[in-house]
Amino acid sequence: MNLKCPICKSASHPEFVKHGHTILTCDSCHHQFIEIPQSPEHTNQVYDDGYFFDGQSGYLDYTKEADLLTAHGERYGNLLQKYTQTGTVFDVGSAAGFILKGLQQKGWNGKGIEPNDTMASYARQKLQIDVETGIFEQYESKEQFDLVTMIQVIAHFYDVRKALEIAHKLLRKDGILLIETWDRGSLPARLLGSNWHEYSPPSVVNWFSLDGMNTLAQQCGFEEIAHGRPDKRINGLHAKSLVKYKLETMAGGRMLGKLLNVIPDNLQIPYPSFDLFWVLYRRK
Ligand SMILES: [Zn+2]
Repeated sequence: MNLKCPICKSASHPEFVKHGHTILTCDSCHHQFIEIPQSPEHTNQVYDDGYFFDGQSGYLDYTKEADLLTAHGERYGNLLQKYTQTGTVFDVGSAAGFILKGLQQKGWNGKGIEPNDTMASYARQKLQIDVETGIFEQYESKEQFDLVTMIQVIAHFYDVRKALEIAHKLLRKDGILLIETWDRGSLPARLLGSNWHEYSPPSVVNWFSLDGMNTLAQQCGFEEIAHGRPDKRINGLHAKSLVKYKLETMAGGRMLGKLLNVIPDNLQIPYPSFDLFWVLYRRK
């Protein structure tokens, strides 16, 4: 087992235990991570259908997020216009392909990879989007793309360095890597400490700050072009599921959970994104 920091290789110390997993903090760069087996077994176990359908991760039914996620993809399509022309995209962790669909609607042509076969099949059959079932850390291809996207994905890799190395190979020189992830360095994360909702191992295994993300990306041959906070929305059904799941462990939480039922499932709720960041890198 490897207790060294995946970014700077320094030693780490245990910070606290969450859901039975010890969150480790790097002694040097303060990156946080958990110890997991460095193997595809981890990915297959975590991303079973329960992840997308029974509320474990906050998703009661991932496919109900279709419109919101497609709109999220479109927003990134608009953002990218400031930095690059449209071309080909490879989307990592595509789930049912909704974000990819949004990017396509903004002129990108692409395909993706997703470990959960139910999700990948949905993309292929319902959306006619080429999403391959597979694990990115094992992905091999000679094809090259103008853009690689990792929306809410980088924190989940069992081998994050390998994932960035593969992204580097998949990109043409000067191609763009877009990452959106949770910001461990954000004010909400620091204020909430161990109660921050993104401390949700074992699906999340790395908790990045923008600095840590940049350090790792530079080591893997990328330079930062821009970063910011995403404009994100979730639907009422997802919001209720997220809150209920978190409330269940609190005294009186179930009562509060019942009150939430007055929120319509399809209501679009702005999600406070000050604990998320997006960052664009250029492949060197
Ligand atoms: Zn470190």
